[in-house]
Amino acid sequence: MDAILKVDRVSQTYQARNGEVTAIENVSFQVNEGEFISIVGPSGCGKSTLLSIIAGLEQPTHGAVRIEGEPVNGISGQIGYMLQKDNLLDWRTIWRNATLGLEIRGMLDEGSRERTMKLLKTYELYEFRNKYPSQLSGGMRQRAALIRTLAVNPQILLLDEAFSALDYQTRLTVTDDIYRILKREGKTTLMVTHDIPEAISMSDRIIVLSARPSVVKAVHQVAFDQPGLSPLQRRNNPQFSRYFNLIWKELNQ
Ligand code: ADP
Ligand code: MG
Repeated sequence: MDAILKVDRVSQTYQARNGEVTAIENVSFQVNEGEFISIVGPSGCGKSTLLSIIAGLEQPTHGAVRIEGEPVNGISGQIGYMLQKDNLLDWRTIWRNATLGLEIRGMLDEGSRERTMKLLKTYELYEFRNKYPSQLSGGMRQRAALIRTLAVNPQILLLDEAFSALDYQTRLTVTDDIYRILKREGKTTLMVTHDIPEAISMSDRIIVLSARPSVVKAVHQVAFDQPGLSPLQRRNNPQFSRYFNLIWKELNQ
């Protein structure tokens, strides 16, 4: 498998009022095409910093990020970014929210409209296209936000604690939904979270970061004996707790 994304010895140091803060230090890893990777680490360790560097929103102090061999230099059309808040605009319908990214990039045409329509149909939001975000449940809103992100057809999805604003029950179904969509659309995904079970339930590989200054503490290949389990099925599998205990210890020692 080819690495689509390479993070090469990336460090980020911020100037704070009381001196320098090194958020991440010498972090390297690769993501293969179609892989789902999670990065877990304590709050404030630099997970969001890492994602903004990968998204081209900030420059690292040291190191480089490459997508298909090309250095990331500014915001890339190959990357879709999803945050904790769905950032749907309340005054626009679901359809006009879903097409917002296309509109901003000047990519709204017959083909992209059709693709968005198809995504809404496949993922059961087409009937809600003329509704407003406030008329949808939290889970549906997050799905609408994902469709908006997918509408511009990025190769790589970055998820930053994308489910942490949802209540527990909703989170379980939303992670199942989002996982199914990303796999079906064949997207490469890099997710950061402080929620260990969430990472185990969705990932092919988990990268564990230490507290600040963050370094890569461990990398785990997640392999359940039974392939193709959904996130919910993984949570109910006896092998789940082994991964949980392992990673929990790494984060708490
Ligand atoms: P996480 O997402 O893991 O919770 P962040 O990446 O948001 O952590 O932040 C890591 C550290 O870097 C924190 O100590 C935070 O205060 C600091 N930091 C993040 N962004 C900036 C910035 N723009 N300027 C100064 N310090 C920052
Ligand atoms: Mg964060």
